[in-house]
Amino acid sequence: MSTYTLPELDYSLKDLEPHLSSEILELHHGKHHAAYVSGANATLDNLAEARASGDLSALNKLEKDLAFHLSGHVLHSLLWKNLSPNGGGTPGGDLGSKIHQDFGSFDAFKAQMSAAAMGVQGSGWASLAYEPMAGKLVVEQVFDHQGNIGNATLPLLVLDMWEHAFYLQYRNEKAKWVDAFWNIVNWKDVEQRLASVSTIDLKL
Ligand code: MN
Repeated sequence: MSTYTLPELDYSLKDLEPHLSSEILELHHGKHHAAYVSGANATLDNLAEARASGDLSALNKLEKDLAFHLSGHVLHSLLWKNLSPNGGGTPGGDLGSKIHQDFGSFDAFKAQMSAAAMGVQGSGWASLAYEPMAGKLVVEQVFDHQGNIGNATLPLLVLDMWEHAFYLQYRNEKAKWVDAFWNIVNWKDVEQRLASVSTIDLKL
């Protein structure tokens, strides 16, 4: 039995239009995300086989594969939950207060996260994450799926800047994808995530 499975979307493929086309969503979820799920499962199988046989000669590649595919599965699963046809606007409640406290203002946070997204070289993501050591929100610029992040940070809101996330609709104008993203953010989802991670104590 597979460890990881592709989650269903909470909305239909057309529901995020015009901000995100159904063509992109169908391929992004059904093909790209699915490939990370099968890649993570295959890597777990390969690691079990390597342990059983005692042949660990390919271990470096397998560990890298695990980080890449597993992180791809995590980020895409989170991305779909972060989006909603009824999204957009600005966060209130505890999330709105926390953003204000840690970034100065919502606009300052949005500018930092947008710049992190726009500045990705090659493939990567921008992420609003909770850093449990200081109990602060931070913006991270993720290389591929797994690089350039703090080890204990927990992503709450993620923006995919791989070309497959926007190119069919926005071509080279990736700023238009970043602008569109803010119109479909499900702030309720992000607020619930902040509530569930903010009690974590790393004991460090
Ligand atoms: Mn993607």
